[in-house]
Amino acid sequence: MFYKSFMPNGVVIVPGGPAHAGGGRDADPAWLPDEPVPTPDWMTAEDWEAWCDATAELGDEPPPGSGGEDEDDDGPDPDPGAWERGTAAFGKGGCADRLPGGSELAFLADAAAGPDDRYPGATDGELDGLIAAWDRVEAHASARKHLAIAEFIRRRPEKGCEPEEPGGMPGRWDEFAVDELRVLLAESRAAAERMLDRAQVLGTRLPGTMALYRSGRLRQSKVTIIVDATALLDDGEAEAAEEQVLGRADRLTPGGLRQAIARAVMDVAPDKAKKRREDAAKDARVERWAEDSGNAALMGRELPPAEVLAADQRITAWARELRKGGLDGDMDVLRARAYLDLLLDTDSRPQPGDGPAQRDVAPGGFAVRGALTVPLVTLAGLAERPGQMSGIGPVDPWLARDLAAAAARNPRTSWCVTVTDQHGHAAFHGCARPEPKTRPKRARRGKRDKPQPTARVRDGPGFSFTREEREGPPGGFGTWRLRTPGSGPDLIVELYSLSTRDCDHRFAAPGHDPGVKLRHLAQIRHATCVSPVCRRPASQCDFEHNIPYEAGGRTCLCNGGPKCRHDHRLKQQPRWKVDQLPDGTFRWTTPSGRDYTTEPTRYPI
Ligand SMILES: [Zn+2]
Ligand SMILES: [Zn+2]
Ligand SMILES: [Zn+2]
Repeated sequence: MFYKSFMPNGVVIVPGGPAHAGGGRDADPAWLPDEPVPTPDWMTAEDWEAWCDATAELGDEPPPGSGGEDEDDDGPDPDPGAWERGTAAFGKGGCADRLPGGSELAFLADAAAGPDDRYPGATDGELDGLIAAWDRVEAHASARKHLAIAEFIRRRPEKGCEPEEPGGMPGRWDEFAVDELRVLLAESRAAAERMLDRAQVLGTRLPGTMALYRSGRLRQSKVTIIVDATALLDDGEAEAAEEQVLGRADRLTPGGLRQAIARAVMDVAPDKAKKRREDAAKDARVERWAEDSGNAALMGRELPPAEVLAADQRITAWARELRKGGLDGDMDVLRARAYLDLLLDTDSRPQPGDGPAQRDVAPGGFAVRGALTVPLVTLAGLAERPGQMSGIGPVDPWLARDLAAAAARNPRTSWCVTVTDQHGHAAFHGCARPEPKTRPKRARRGKRDKPQPTARVRDGPGFSFTREEREGPPGGFGTWRLRTPGSGPDLIVELYSLSTRDCDHRFAAPGHDPGVKLRHLAQIRHATCVSPVCRRPASQCDFEHNIPYEAGGRTCLCNGGPKCRHDHRLKQQPRWKVDQLPDGTFRWTTPSGRDYTTEPTRYPI
């Protein structure tokens, strides 16, 4: 059974404001400054020193409860008393409560967890100690991962970059090392780059931070705060700045630490702090992204502080006007409404005689060329399946129908129909065009008494899709008629197979340039860059010949797909290899020999 999706290409949906190139779904604007909140500390400075002394004396002797006393593995399971002894070590001041993160602590905590992670015999206080213990183990593992990445950097120096002391690391790593890491961990490029940065910094400077990280007293989020805040400093200054915060870094919340290290950096190198602020202002931008809830977010970044405060006050002032005007909602909701009012030049104060607030999903005056994909069954009201909006993400069925109806009211909307297989991969595609004026008469003459109700999808809220002619062109899926709500003309859609198994090169272009149609179909099959970890929209990518045109590669759907500029260059690296399989899958092989595949885009079905 096939499913069909509609893709209006020009839709009145959201303001076509500036969208930052990097502000897609890979962007991570998740952090927001926290207010410092006191957290219970698991170890005071005195405890820490005591622990250091204790472990220095401990030498080779395994801590009690580690099983080290009993080398005989074949012994019976420990009796309940032994469990108890194991968890007691995690009580306040217990020996395990003072152990740094590492395999030894993991071993003890694992033993205390019992077979079902129910911590038999542990008091609440000991369970606290165990939670903190796993936290130290987690931080320790994260530190060790970064040390392994540091070694990876040593093995991927940029050409001509000699290892430098301390750390024996090259000053820069190979440009494409980040791609190996991001496919390995299925990370965004930005996140993989940050990982490499942290590994480089921790391998060469900030020794105090690294020591706390490795011991489990600082988890990655806090280490990142220190690494980022001190990035502008030279090695000596960085060490001086970290020294100002390390004594309390484990007890501060992320927000508190962010402020403390920022103050330390301004103290150590005020001129550099000023220069960073000025440089960052060149990265000013507005970002938008999809909230997990299905709503969307809009945020300005790296803006001048004084103007941000002024703008914020203006939002509050207008929110108060909205409240005075009778609009319901708490101050957050009213401020959000005021924010949009100010941007869209609208006035949300209820007008006399208004019923309950009715807002058009698509405000007038703003048009954007985006793509909305909605399953036919949703459009026709037969099922409630989500749609997809490019640049935003999944949209729930009700919003999808509203947006499609709004799109139908816009004469600039163009429609495409994609028929998918059971996986949601595009199998057939057709671009709708208005029915020629003379056509209906001819069609009616030929097929006067032959309605074809079997092919008709039950009329839903204004959309219908019916088969027009039984035989379509060769290799096709026939000609169909698409009716949209409103007064627009009926649309005619010829559906073609996108399969490239035993490709007959139907869509091949004669030269190097794919032309509009082939480019469009390649973008339908892969709606984003064909790298396994890149989500750049295909519309911002090049059509890339998998076997180069110069080497005899055909300009056809069977030999190409969208690649962003970066991944296009990555593919050309001699140590990387990319194969295109007949079903449209791309297989990437990294320099270390692992391979990763990218399947064609899965559309909502
Ligand atoms: Zn199309
Ligand atoms: Zn072909
Ligand atoms: Zn890419």
